[in-house]
Amino acid sequence: MTTLLTTQDIARIVAAHGLPEVLRQLVAGIGAEFRRWPEFDKVPRLASHSRSGVIELMPVADATHYSFKYVNGHPANGLQGLPTVMAFGVLAEVATGRPLLLSELTLTTAMRTAATSVLAAQALARPGSRTMALIGNGAQSEFQALAFHHLVGIQTLRLFDTDPAATARLQRHLRDVPGLKTVVCASTAEAVQGADIVTTVTADKRNATILTPEMLAPGMHINGVGGDCPGKTELHPGVLEAARVFVEYEPQTRIEGDLQQMPAEFPVTELWRVLTGQAPGRRSDAEVTVFDSVGFALEDFAALRLMGALAAPLGLGQVIDLIPEMADPKNLYGELMRSDARRLRAA
Ligand code: NAD
Repeated sequence: MTTLLTTQDIARIVAAHGLPEVLRQLVAGIGAEFRRWPEFDKVPRLASHSRSGVIELMPVADATHYSFKYVNGHPANGLQGLPTVMAFGVLAEVATGRPLLLSELTLTTAMRTAATSVLAAQALARPGSRTMALIGNGAQSEFQALAFHHLVGIQTLRLFDTDPAATARLQRHLRDVPGLKTVVCASTAEAVQGADIVTTVTADKRNATILTPEMLAPGMHINGVGGDCPGKTELHPGVLEAARVFVEYEPQTRIEGDLQQMPAEFPVTELWRVLTGQAPGRRSDAEVTVFDSVGFALEDFAALRLMGALAAPLGLGQVIDLIPEMADPKNLYGELMRSDARRLRAA
């Protein structure tokens, strides 16, 4: 049997544990999977592009579990009352192929993306970073803001979005968080003033230059989240040239990340190598570091496992008959004939 976790189930998990604790467990869970990187079968995600956006499938597996996520990215969806990013996914048993868990992943993606950003920043940002510029104040932004406040120690957020209503919403949601101050800025150039960390999490289907080289200051860490698709970037190439660049899975980031603008030989370091001590993270207080995040399947693998584990003790999740359960596995036709639908029709 397969367990279904809905959006409400995920919201109940967060209500039971609190968002900071769920984010903390996600950072730990994603970090643990990244540290055993060679054990996974990995592949860049499969993307289906259209004029308005992209729909992607993201598989990954180790010897015991397989997962995939279905996710889209449609920057103009807000005009139709839909989120830019929507997702769901499956965790399955490798030994039999049986799907164990079918889960919403829209809320979970926002949490796991923020957790991955934190994991990278813990390894790459200057210790003692207290101010972060947050450029792009849409659906992902509260999660980024709260994750960096609770888990990195950010105390001041300098906000900018081309849509003032988005910034107003974000500021309203953060108003009562103790120890967190927000400053609304009129431009990205203003927002990055004095920032230790700059998070870019905008959505626009073009080669945008949200961050340009003259905005950089020594020691900055850039958490680039929104450039995650061919033809959709946020960082001027000069920003990458001025920095050491870290990625999740190099073959995927070369296609999708801000890295797509750079020549094939441009050097990058995969984050798992820093986490396992095989490559250095930040080497000095003056170095500029970039985490060119695109979102990798292993983060969803970790998130699915964690949400499944957190749901069970809370009695959350509905068992659904996604796969037929048969006394004789060869009698699939018999299963069709004895179904409730047939009995209903006969009644
Ligand atoms: P959203 O549409 O809810 O919000 C995006 C915001 O960016 C909007 O408020 C928009 O006004 C703002 N914006 C657009 N252009 C801007 C500019 N030039 N300057 C400042 N603000 C600008 O989208 P979302 O769900 O918050 O996602 C944001 C981005 O993050 C998307 O591009 C999405 O694909 C990406 N994303 C990446 C990952 C990852 O793992 N790296 C995961 C989830 C989402």
